[in-house]
Amino acid sequence: MSESMMVTRYNPQEIESKWQQKWADDRLYEVKEDDTRPKWYALTMFPYTSGDLHIGHWYAMAPSDVHARFKRMQGYNVLHPMGFDAFGLPAENAAIKRGIHPFTWTMQNVDNMRRQLRSIGAIYDWSREVVTCLPEYYQWTQWFFLKLYEAGLAYRDKSPVNWCPSCQTVLANEQVIGEGVCERCNTPVTRRDLEQWFFRITNYADELMDHTGIDWPERIKIMQNNWVGKSYGTEISFALDHPGIEDKEIRVFTTRPDTTFGVTFMVLAPEHPLVARLTSPDKKAEVDAYIVKSRRQSEIERLSTEKEKDGVFIGTYCTNRLNGEKVPIWIADYVLLGYGTGVVMGVPAHDERDFAFARKYNLPIPVVIAPPGWQGEELEEAYIEPGTMVNSGQFNGLPNEQGVKDVSRYLEEKGWGKRTVSYRLRDWLISRQRYWGAPIPIIYCDKCGTVPVPEKDLPVLLPEDAEFKPTGESPLNYNEKFVNTTCPRCGSPARRETDTMDTFMCSSWYFLRYTSPHYHPSAFDPEKVNYWLPVDLYTGGAEHAVMHLFYARFFTKAIRDIGLVDFDEPFTRLFNQGIIIAGKHKMSKSRGNVVTPDEYVAEMGTDTVRAYLMFVAPWEQGGEWNDSGIVGVNRWLNRVWNLVLEEYRKRPETGEDETAVAEKELARITHQTIKKVTEDLEKIRFNVMIAALMEFTNYLSKVMETGAVTPAAWRTSIDHLLLLLAPSTPHLTEELWERSGYEYSIHNHSWPQWDRELAKDEEVTLVIQVNGKLRDRLAVPPAITESEARQMATERPRVKTHLDNKDIVNVIYVPGKLINFVVR
Ligand SMILES: [Zn+2]
Ligand SMILES: [Zn+2]
Repeated sequence: MSESMMVTRYNPQEIESKWQQKWADDRLYEVKEDDTRPKWYALTMFPYTSGDLHIGHWYAMAPSDVHARFKRMQGYNVLHPMGFDAFGLPAENAAIKRGIHPFTWTMQNVDNMRRQLRSIGAIYDWSREVVTCLPEYYQWTQWFFLKLYEAGLAYRDKSPVNWCPSCQTVLANEQVIGEGVCERCNTPVTRRDLEQWFFRITNYADELMDHTGIDWPERIKIMQNNWVGKSYGTEISFALDHPGIEDKEIRVFTTRPDTTFGVTFMVLAPEHPLVARLTSPDKKAEVDAYIVKSRRQSEIERLSTEKEKDGVFIGTYCTNRLNGEKVPIWIADYVLLGYGTGVVMGVPAHDERDFAFARKYNLPIPVVIAPPGWQGEELEEAYIEPGTMVNSGQFNGLPNEQGVKDVSRYLEEKGWGKRTVSYRLRDWLISRQRYWGAPIPIIYCDKCGTVPVPEKDLPVLLPEDAEFKPTGESPLNYNEKFVNTTCPRCGSPARRETDTMDTFMCSSWYFLRYTSPHYHPSAFDPEKVNYWLPVDLYTGGAEHAVMHLFYARFFTKAIRDIGLVDFDEPFTRLFNQGIIIAGKHKMSKSRGNVVTPDEYVAEMGTDTVRAYLMFVAPWEQGGEWNDSGIVGVNRWLNRVWNLVLEEYRKRPETGEDETAVAEKELARITHQTIKKVTEDLEKIRFNVMIAALMEFTNYLSKVMETGAVTPAAWRTSIDHLLLLLAPSTPHLTEELWERSGYEYSIHNHSWPQWDRELAKDEEVTLVIQVNGKLRDRLAVPPAITESEARQMATERPRVKTHLDNKDIVNVIYVPGKLINFVVR
């Protein structure tokens, strides 16, 4: 057609950079608190400063921007900030590898990533950017440490830690993966004792298991609760009676007090303080060698179900108070000091691990819970199902579930035990023996002991001239200027703490700083936090279930109790997006299947990449990148471009009736599309939303061809198409809005409303006949198919009576008007 030849071509490169510049110049997306509108805090997990914005970042950020833009058009005052998670091991390791300073490396990455982030065309308010490695930010990370310290929630303790000999640092349990290797370098992890700083996250164990009032994916809640690992059981006291040893008991936690009569050995963690006191002299050498061996293993290795369990008898006994039997004491590395009391009672007949252990060392395996029909024979394997108590004194004959209660009650009456609760969760270890982190603001004085750095002296600056290569000790140890200081209390020479903080501390509060990023009196302006928090929608990867998302919840509850905020949960709704793969595989450099978003932006434009990422799959599932798929989306946006700019001409010969019918249909489909797109956006169903807009475009193309509606009716529908598309393809719609002669900016326009009456499906009356006689009438949609009409008609009682027990020999169907059953 000649018209389309006259329309200028869609040139995304030109219009996208133009609008991005104008939006920035006009500060279109800068946000202020505003009590006249409801607020909406839309947060995407801030990226780590790894160097490049990859497709995963785009997949996290573009769709969340679409949702934030939608809320903005709906009239919300939307805060959608962006920043950088910039401290930590990956940056430090990368800098060491390249022989440059971590600060230089990180800030180069920030510049590059900021440029790439701008190319997404999001509504980020860049005046609120935070970078966690800058003193203006980490000053407040240190300030929060002091607040937690004052509240008794931070403490220092000697503890065995996971140690990576290659990275030369302590690892959190979560950073030890697979068969006990370091998540970063795959080196087997060993154990070490160090004085470390901890946060008392265990104080909040129960509250952290409670997710009421927040709308989070079920699987994340389950993962968090497994992480807390709460179990109910009984702590039982076994008697010790050894001359010269003060300790008179060993306490053990069990969820199976009903099996206590079947205990034939006691296992202590090799690190248990009683081991040294209880080991008999003839066993000392063997026990010491075993302790050394177990220290070389990580917790995960020790708990591995694959590994054969071994241990050493330490030469002494305790007494089972229930039956007076002597129980040999062993140590074994599968028992961890940190779990329960660091002791496990061995009940081989009723626990698989204990069974294998008893077989290996020829320990007795007495049955105390009888399987149905048991005749006193030896067990071939551990029996862990319910049964009847036997060999259990006064409890014989009880169902073992009843025994759990009765034995516990008896132990409590005798003062030999108490019902209690045990948790898998340990306190949060935040000390890192590395350079690239926020220094812990503590000073050690010979006279005054541990002294917190006074608030007015913050930040404790991370010295730039430190030798930061990993040695196994904190690099800051070797920086005399940093280490040597004076005690803030007595003025004597003193030393600074040289460990830095876990970077998960930096990301536990960044969402507060965005509300007032330049506020100096404190970490945040309380009024602004009150206005914006909690975050209404938090989006990011599910891999953060038990670390970042867990720590941020703890942090919020801790500072609530300190009185700094008055809400319980930081993130009201959580949504996890899936991942984009290529060629059926996760993208990786080694596989050579990495899709670089910059290339596609350069070729087809940001709007195409945005729309494609939403269209490719349900957001929570993720999907496969497909080049022909993105080309199809690009073609669609070209059609939108032409459709809006081509001159619409009404066909002169169209009659009034025809126009009225066509306009009614156009209004109906337009309002149905508004309704569908609105609901899909509310429910975060981006792929079906894009599909609905594509369908709407197809329909409008047909209307353009038939030319049956008035130019005014046409224009109304085109305007709605642009408004509905605005969150997804912000540049294209801004350009077309301007070319249509409307006021800048489409993004300040309100979201279209649908009219319930107009959106209603049209209905026609279907006449139902049997052998030519009228039997019923039915209101149906005009596009009803023959099989649908037949189904609905045969279900009508008044029709049914005339069809029962008859053969339908023919059906005559006049679409949308009549159906006639010929029967015999
Ligand atoms: Zn490592
Ligand atoms: Zn002092």
